[in-house]
Amino acid sequence: MKANYGYKDGSGDFYITIDTDLCNGCGECVTVCPAKLFAVQPDENDPLRDVPTAVVAGENRNKLKYACAACKPISNRPPLPCMKACKPGAIQHSW
Ligand code: SF4
Ligand code: SF4
Repeated sequence: MKANYGYKDGSGDFYITIDTDLCNGCGECVTVCPAKLFAVQPDENDPLRDVPTAVVAGENRNKLKYACAACKPISNRPPLPCMKACKPGAIQHSW
C-alpha cells in the first residue's frame, strides 16, 4: 500500500509517499537523510507483515517543506539522497 506523510498548505502539497509493498526495511533512507526524517519500524497498517517498513516519523510529517529544503535547491536539483538510496524505488515526493 502507499503510505502518505505530509500536509498541504497555501504554498503547495508536501507529501512523502512510501510504497510499503516495495519497501524491504533495509534502512538506507534512515542512514542517508540529513534531516533524519525516516524510521524503520513494524508496519502499523499491517500487523501480520513480518518485515519492518520505513515511515516518516512523528512531528517530521508536519515540516517536510522546511526539513527537505537543503536537498531541494530551486535550480539544478540533484537526485534526492533518499530516493537515490532506495533500491526498490519505494519513496516518492509530491514536490
Ligand atoms: S531505503 Fe527504501 S526499501 Fe530501504 S527502508 Fe527506506 S524506503 Fe524501505
Ligand atoms: S529530500 Fe533529503 S531531507 Fe528530504 S527526505 Fe529525502 S534525504 Fe531526507
